[in-house]
Amino acid sequence: MANSKVVLHRLGVRNSPDSIEPSCGVMDVVENGAVKYRIVIDCGLTQIPLPGGPRKLHYPDFSLFNDGKKIDAVLITHVHADHFGAVTKLLPFMSREARVVMTKGSFTVAMHVLKDNAIGLDKAGQQRVLFENGEISRRALIIRKPGEVEILHGIPALVWPAGHIQGACSFTLKVGKLKIHYAGDRCTHDQPGIKGAPPLPPEWRPDVFAGTDCTYGADPDSDKRVYRDEWDRGTELAKQALLRGSSVAVPAFALHRSAAVAHMFQQAGIGDFGRLLLDGKAELYTDIMETGEGHWWPGDEAIDATEVERVSERYMGGAEDGESRYEIARNGNFTIVTTAGMGGPGGPFTQWRKFLLSDPDALILFSGYVAPDTDGAKILAAARERDATGNEIEVTFDVLKRDRTHKGRLIKGGWVKETYPVKCHVAQMRIGGHESRGKTLDWFQELRPQAAVLAHGSEASLASLAGELRGVIPLLHGSHDGPLTLDA
Ligand SMILES: [Zn+2]
Repeated sequence: MANSKVVLHRLGVRNSPDSIEPSCGVMDVVENGAVKYRIVIDCGLTQIPLPGGPRKLHYPDFSLFNDGKKIDAVLITHVHADHFGAVTKLLPFMSREARVVMTKGSFTVAMHVLKDNAIGLDKAGQQRVLFENGEISRRALIIRKPGEVEILHGIPALVWPAGHIQGACSFTLKVGKLKIHYAGDRCTHDQPGIKGAPPLPPEWRPDVFAGTDCTYGADPDSDKRVYRDEWDRGTELAKQALLRGSSVAVPAFALHRSAAVAHMFQQAGIGDFGRLLLDGKAELYTDIMETGEGHWWPGDEAIDATEVERVSERYMGGAEDGESRYEIARNGNFTIVTTAGMGGPGGPFTQWRKFLLSDPDALILFSGYVAPDTDGAKILAAARERDATGNEIEVTFDVLKRDRTHKGRLIKGGWVKETYPVKCHVAQMRIGGHESRGKTLDWFQELRPQAAVLAHGSEASLASLAGELRGVIPLLHGSHDGPLTLDA
């Protein structure tokens, strides 16, 4: 292209040094001084838990779009909320023809994910979310297999599997002489239901990494963990708890993670030691993964959770929310897999934990990274302190109670504090779908792009990786460096 440049913007801003920013990349293709195309890659949100109140939703900084240039295309690497949850916020800035490009794997669950944006809104707000979600669905351009597509006239792109979760992909866009790569979240090891990301075809070797996954950039321990061993350890701990006659709760993300746990625990015969159950959103997304409906490349594999009971099916006519859980809990000797993935706030785990926390034989088994400020972090910290000091430690959560009726009487909901002693076993199996620190560095070093934008990690993660990559990647761009302009 004559006289052309690309300007790479990153709109995600961190709300604290520890947090990853919501992913949102913008690629402006500039010809003769004017923006010809504006392409957005991912648009996520993060949630900030606030004690005693609703979570605050944290969005990217959209002020760039006030320049009036409309968005010509939106590319979605995967549908985790931190990459996709704010996509409807782009609607006012999109051109009439702009499409939302996503894989079949992503599209299958996209509308379920967006529905969550209606939680906590009034009637009018819910109507608006429904309308906006419909707009995203209408604009969807569904990629049915990996390969090359023309995103916009003269802009071919490679859509390639990224591992991580079902439907996850990377995008490599060809602009003039440059091949510009947006990795999304990456995982090269196999997980239940999805094979690891295959290498990019050599002819698509990127010149620029515009979007990267630096999740474990400051975590050298991530290199010591062996994925398969984590599963074996977690499974063994669960069996021991069941053999003690007690129960297990596994907080797991709804998307992919809970299906993976259900599948692996079924394979490992956990059901022979006690009941194995899924609850809440974990049921919905496991059901979808069992159908195979979102498969878009040969690395997508069947999830089998046919022997795992669904809690919603246990609700008998007229039973109230919580009662049947109570019955299951009272009968004991079960394993429950459910949200919230980090143990709360939110999700049915907040109901299950009250039966487990005070039981010295029970096990709470976290299925991955647990962020600061979550209920899971409180449980882990309390268990650590207890084990170090021998003292009994209590933990207090802020819990949102919904309005409900009991014997015909309305019981008003609201925020309450719940306090429990942490007596149970608490453990973590790290079965997340991201590359370890070392493998992330290998990836940078193998492909050695001319320029790389470090993204999707804490301040410390980005700084740690930058320290290693100085001198390896000629142009390294960090969180505070502003837009990156390159000749195309
Ligand atoms: Zn992700």
